[in-house]
Amino acid sequence: MKAIIYNAPYDVSVQNVPDAKIEKATDVLVRITTTNICGSDLHMYEGRTSFETGRILGHENLGEVVEVGAAVDRVKVGDMVCLPFNIGCGFCDNCERGLTGYCLTVNPGSAGGAYGFADMGPYQGGQAELLRVPYGDFNCLVLPEDAKEKEDDYVMLSDILPTGWHATELSGLLPGESIAIYGAGPVGLMAAHAAMIKGASQVFVVDSHPDRLALAAKLGATPINTAQTEAVEQILNLTNGKGTDRGCECVG
Ligand SMILES: [Zn+2]
Ligand SMILES: [Zn+2]
Repeated sequence: MKAIIYNAPYDVSVQNVPDAKIEKATDVLVRITTTNICGSDLHMYEGRTSFETGRILGHENLGEVVEVGAAVDRVKVGDMVCLPFNIGCGFCDNCERGLTGYCLTVNPGSAGGAYGFADMGPYQGGQAELLRVPYGDFNCLVLPEDAKEKEDDYVMLSDILPTGWHATELSGLLPGESIAIYGAGPVGLMAAHAAMIKGASQVFVVDSHPDRLALAAKLGATPINTAQTEAVEQILNLTNGKGTDRGCECVG
């Protein structure tokens, strides 16, 4: 299969590698149809990690199930699935508490696994024609009938939308409260979107890039451009000196 291989810092290439395959009875094999490049891929690409030469990049993946292991029950061949980037087992103490980002099973000696990521287990990435998904019944998000028409939307469930949503969770945001979100990149924009879904009374998005702030405004947020004056000063002015109830750091 073709895959994007990490060769060295600032050096990746499309290469032919052995096909991904079912290795355990709990695996699912997915033919990747859509995958995102993430800002956090830069950690590996720019050589800031211990990512090994020859590894396949890509942790934001979506595709069609082409094979399932003998112990897979819920996921079927032909299902369109999105693969959230954290790999969990579904049965360890942390997974049972919903802390799947710190699964105790999938990355022995550490906690937490991910596809194509440094120090997150031996799992290959999905910027490839095929992806092996461990514990497939737990890690495959089976998509509705319209998946093939909306791949560009559903692939956001692999990282960007839930990451932004989780930032608002960690902030403790309650309906009716106001929130300041620092960073109008994809995660910040998704945090703004999440805050509005959760009933925030006012959402400020802070950045210095006008094009990104325009997207925040389009979502219904109040853009705060730090290229003009200090964000805190602007937000205090817009809230009668009160400031916001909550905040999210989405700069990275
Ligand atoms: Zn990502
Ligand atoms: Zn687990």
